[in-house]
Amino acid sequence: MSQTSGTDFKDGWWRDATPHLSPHAEPRLNTVEIDQIVIHAISLPAGEFGGPHIHALFANTLDCDLHPAFAELRGLRVSAHFLIDRRGLTTQFVSIDERAWHAGVSSFGGRAACNARSIGIELEGCDSTSFAPAQYESLSKLLVALVGRHPRIRASRIVGHADIAPTRKTDPGPHFDWIRCRRDFICGMLSGV
Ligand SMILES: [Zn+2]
Repeated sequence: MSQTSGTDFKDGWWRDATPHLSPHAEPRLNTVEIDQIVIHAISLPAGEFGGPHIHALFANTLDCDLHPAFAELRGLRVSAHFLIDRRGLTTQFVSIDERAWHAGVSSFGGRAACNARSIGIELEGCDSTSFAPAQYESLSKLLVALVGRHPRIRASRIVGHADIAPTRKTDPGPHFDWIRCRRDFICGMLSGV
């Protein structure tokens, strides 16, 4: 059953994203309402940008022999709903009507297993580099569209992976500008972009 309607999303797929299907997904429970967004950062190999490897990892097509650092990714089954690359281009891997596997062991506000209630957005990036202006612009548009679809998401529930899994994760990292993110988001909500 589709939970989405209107023009921004069709069956949970955003019109402004390029679809790239991931098998790493599962149905949501109809009783669980989406009220959280988790922002991540990823680069493959770490610190390198622009390659096809993140898409391949999420699509379960990554050749783990391509790079020594990929050995630890063998058998890893992860995904996110969205990836925003360094150019600001947005790819969608999982319908927002389904759970993506991005949060792992996590908790927020006393609730565990954040995949159940959240939408995961990956930014192509790492802990040591600033994100690109185009990424913030695309993120703002995506956040506004998601809140339009799921109004229970509030600015205070747009969090980082490090906020929900602080002993395991650091992303989106110290270079992610939360003030800019929230300012752009609020401006976007007010202007209706
Ligand atoms: Zn993450």
